[in-house]
Amino acid sequence: MKNLSIFVLLPLFVACASSTNFGDDTTDSGTPGDDGGTPGDDGTAPDPDAGNPPPSNAPLATGITVSGVTLNQGVEVNVVKNGAPATKNAPLIAGRPGLLRVFVTPSSAFSHALTGELTLTTGGTPKTFTSSLTPTTTSSDASMGSTFNFNVDAASLATDTTFLVKIKDPQGSGSGSNTAQYPTSGTATSLGVKNAGSVKINVYPIKFSSGGGTPATGAIDIGAYQKIVMGLYPAANVTLSVQSTLTYTGSIPDAYDQSGAWEYLLSYLQKKRAADPSPDVYYYGAFAPSSSFASFCGSGCIAGLSGIPSGPTNYSQKASIGLAYGGNSFDQQSTAQTMAHEVGHGHGREHSPTTQSVQYCSTPSGTDPSYPYAHGGIGVWGWDIINQKAKDPSQFFDIMGYCESDWISDYTYGKLYSWIAADNGFDMVTGDAVTYRQIFVKADGTLEVGDAFPVYGPMSGEQHTVTFDDGHSATGFYFPYDHVGGGYVLVPEPAHFTSLQVKDFSKLSAIPH
Ligand SMILES: [Zn+2]
Repeated sequence: MKNLSIFVLLPLFVACASSTNFGDDTTDSGTPGDDGGTPGDDGTAPDPDAGNPPPSNAPLATGITVSGVTLNQGVEVNVVKNGAPATKNAPLIAGRPGLLRVFVTPSSAFSHALTGELTLTTGGTPKTFTSSLTPTTTSSDASMGSTFNFNVDAASLATDTTFLVKIKDPQGSGSGSNTAQYPTSGTATSLGVKNAGSVKINVYPIKFSSGGGTPATGAIDIGAYQKIVMGLYPAANVTLSVQSTLTYTGSIPDAYDQSGAWEYLLSYLQKKRAADPSPDVYYYGAFAPSSSFASFCGSGCIAGLSGIPSGPTNYSQKASIGLAYGGNSFDQQSTAQTMAHEVGHGHGREHSPTTQSVQYCSTPSGTDPSYPYAHGGIGVWGWDIINQKAKDPSQFFDIMGYCESDWISDYTYGKLYSWIAADNGFDMVTGDAVTYRQIFVKADGTLEVGDAFPVYGPMSGEQHTVTFDDGHSATGFYFPYDHVGGGYVLVPEPAHFTSLQVKDFSKLSAIPH
């Protein structure tokens, strides 16, 4: 209970409310009524605790139509709608488990159970899943008990997977109706699964030479963070690889960033990232400014900070920092959701437009103008593949916004997918590094010259001409911060200069080091 006051206070004051998402357990809408037991490997009876009738030679049912099929690996994706192939609202991910739901329209209520059979064929090998339901009404999204539900394992979903659904009636006779199967032809059709690959996050514990606390990066806490991030990201896997602890000699970031120490700490990690030629590794600086989350954030705080790369090829910018407290599920969830949010910025995501007009939400800056749902809502039903819980779109908001109850929209999920797939398609040969000078742009537009460091990979982003006092000019690339205003410009620099100007930003007066 010690966290109760934080639960109430954080959303009111926190700058990055991504860390304050603790409402899941009270607002989940429950689990499916049937876990779709599968036959054992020896071909005998299905999992007895599924309570299903075995796959049978029963005929197709009559008086019922398969109207829809969805697969939910985090967000509900339409596969079949109104009895026809649907335009998918988000990708289906290879190697990731999910909940497949079959929606039916009975012509009248049944009084006995029907057997749903789902056959997924992958690599030429069919696997049949079963689910039992007594259909009494037209299936609906909000009622898990109105659909045939199948828990599909990760290995059964690959790019070549086909599916066939049959609703059988153990009390039926004759050949039944072909509307009780999909496709109605009885011939399996492609499920349309795509490869995403994995998300690779290197976690750097950060220790402050001037004090502070110890970040929670032990195996138990990291395992808890991994599950939460994995639940949200459209990938076959998310890996969190804890690296050697870094000792940072700069200032410890303060709760509201009055000192600017957040940006300097992020910059410190960005330099390390820029010098790493790997295209697809995200650096995450995990730190604890004080001994406990409550002592740092008791009346609100900034929880994380990230730059926003302009594209997957901007991989030198794939670095973020965030608070890392663990030891209990509250702090683990706070830490993991901050990580998911900040690494989301690292995947090019701007903020989703949550709004303080909704209870336990606040209004971020830098929102995505293309975001499709009001108040940063998630739009469609979510599904937590780790905890097997549904996420009601009327209760949850997008991870890239500032609300307590976070899940992920199909929009954000789809955008993350494109980026992750691009990351995993990259050639690992990346060429030589170019030395860039970092120029901090403060929230008020003033400039401060930072360090020069090598950067691998092509640069893209918002371009600003940088003019040096020796007459030389070059194209700089601007990367805004997510939470604190301002950002920084990276520019290839001449050998000598004493001052510079960045088009559209204030003139620099200080002499660089
Ligand atoms: Zn943010």
